[in-house]
Amino acid sequence: MLFEKISSCRACGQAGLVDILDLGKQPLANALVAPGNSTINKVPLSTAFCPNCSLFQLKETVNKEVLFNHYVWVTGTSVAAREYARVFADRVIQRAGLKKGDLVFEVASNDGTVLKQFLARGIAVLGIEPAKNIAKMATDAGVRTDCAFWNVESAKRLIQQIGIPKVVMARNVVPHVSDLHGVIEGMAQALDANGTGIIEFHSGRIIAEELHYDSIYHEHLCYFTAHSMEYLLKQHGLYPYAFDQSPISGGSLVVYFSKQQRPWERSYLDIIQEEKRAGVDECSTWERFSEQAKEHRTKTLEVLNQFKGKVIVGFGSSARSATYINFCGIGSNYLKAIIDNNPLKQGLMTPAGDVPIVSFEQGMALKPEVIFVLAWNLGSEIMDECIKRGFRGSFIVPFPREPHIISTLPVEEKVVEEAE
Ligand SMILES: [Zn+2]
Repeated sequence: MLFEKISSCRACGQAGLVDILDLGKQPLANALVAPGNSTINKVPLSTAFCPNCSLFQLKETVNKEVLFNHYVWVTGTSVAAREYARVFADRVIQRAGLKKGDLVFEVASNDGTVLKQFLARGIAVLGIEPAKNIAKMATDAGVRTDCAFWNVESAKRLIQQIGIPKVVMARNVVPHVSDLHGVIEGMAQALDANGTGIIEFHSGRIIAEELHYDSIYHEHLCYFTAHSMEYLLKQHGLYPYAFDQSPISGGSLVVYFSKQQRPWERSYLDIIQEEKRAGVDECSTWERFSEQAKEHRTKTLEVLNQFKGKVIVGFGSSARSATYINFCGIGSNYLKAIIDNNPLKQGLMTPAGDVPIVSFEQGMALKPEVIFVLAWNLGSEIMDECIKRGFRGSFIVPFPREPHIISTLPVEEKVVEEAE
């Protein structure tokens, strides 16, 4: 079967989910297709809110084999992501009180980018990564990596083989797993009373407030807030005590938790209060989010129509941009191509099959007059790069909140915001 629909909450198991935004039938966002391929699987993409534990979540669960069949992408190698990996390691070492020789586990460690930062600070590491080709890349780069899915069994096996870690961390993976309780229970099993668990996730408050509906796609099952994450962790005897903010995905939270309740740090109280004010635990907030997403779609098309007849090229063929352009009905009707710096994606077509993905040079050869910054969370990096390499024209930056037009002025060579 291609997918299943949930009838109860992914985190607390209660029935009575309230339907929120329906994004229609969408092709699997990471399934880029070869040119000329006409077999495209489309699956409904719809969301719901749990009034019991306040988790905003996807209703459909696509079969794992289908979803990860062509999963070849490697952790974003953007400058910002690499910079942040350093900051993250320093914060973790400080908050968890790590010393040289202590052991850190990372769940879904990808190519080892983050663990390298810990290694460089004298910390022992183990990555757990299910994708064979990526686990091998990490091992080849000197990061000890076990090729496995993280769950209770692998947690038990690894603490026996390697030892009990001081820190178990999972960055931007928990919202993507269908075996939610298996992953969290695995973390609970691996930690002892002195251990610290860490989970990083795209912030539900920011998703709601800044209208990141483009972050809804089939692999992204849960949209946690500090509130709903706390509810989930407590079910496994884990207690949050601190939060950090992270720039990843356009706004993420890092939660620190332990088995023995620790005193709440200031950051914990601040984040919980901030979310209360934003109303993330109220259904009406998410219903408003749904309405605003539909208005955002109308505004997007209005902005694009202002540039009718001009050559428009997208930048960034991510899962997020796939949701966004499909929801808005944007394809070859507006876009000549989408530039993506990942060579593995170049030469393929968008999941809907109608827009070619090209290199920077190929994109510029089309002489774009407008660049549609689909990977807007890396927007300033992308715009700087385009200007540095000679692009003059307009950028459309679709998020946060609403589409913005930014023009390059050829005379002064600077970027200004146009009045809308
Ligand atoms: Zn729930």
